[in-house]
Amino acid sequence: QAAAVTALAAIEAVLAVIEENADELGRIDAVAGDGDHGVGMQRGARAAAAAARDAQAKGAGVETLLVSAADAWADRAGGTSGALWGVMLRALAGEVGDTAAPTAESVSAGVTAARTGIQSFGKAEVGDKTMVDAIVPFTDTLAAEVATGKGLTAAWSTAADAATAAARETADLLPRMGRARPHAEKSLGTPDAGAHSFALIVQSIAVVLT
Ligand code: ADP
Ligand code: MG
Ligand code: MG
Repeated sequence: QAAAVTALAAIEAVLAVIEENADELGRIDAVAGDGDHGVGMQRGARAAAAAARDAQAKGAGVETLLVSAADAWADRAGGTSGALWGVMLRALAGEVGDTAAPTAESVSAGVTAARTGIQSFGKAEVGDKTMVDAIVPFTDTLAAEVATGKGLTAAWSTAADAATAAARETADLLPRMGRARPHAEKSLGTPDAGAHSFALIVQSIAVVLT
């Protein structure tokens, strides 16, 4: 189950980057939100990694492993972002399917399914100052790079850089969704917490794919 091994390594990388940045994510969320984004992501990533290790030990394929991780994340994280990460991981799992060797095209289609899932569940559009502001350029860049024939590693890395730039640019926006909305002006100059954590996550996975 080569794909399941890679997926588990990716989830371990996500857990590591979240542990490392949890305090900072909490501080960013506290500027205009409720300050729990770091601990929420930590609970979600820890539960997802435990579930993925368990699935891998039982010989699960990549779809089963990602579904277990998705359910554990959504159950344990709490908060808006926890539910949204569950939706994204489940959509990714369903699109990639239980294959031994996902292609760049199938991974990109999976990421696009995750983006469609989060937008139909959370109703945020680009510019609302949410994680969608990082997810959309990530998805579009990944699809465009794969369409030009780039391999997954190179395409993912370019897309992760697009997500990082877009997350940084959310600092200039006023939040129109979520808990930060009532304190919108306070958040000017600070990036969105969920966009920032999304960028950290896809950058951590880029390292696994090389
Ligand atoms: P909560 O807001 O419930 O405390 P978190 O602090 O974990 O949950 O997550 C906050 C992040 O969730 C925000 O920074 C934003 O990126 C994201 N978010 C909030 N509402 C939405 C939405 N409707 N669609 C997409 N992302 C959202
Ligand atoms: Mg919060
Ligand atoms: Mg909260």
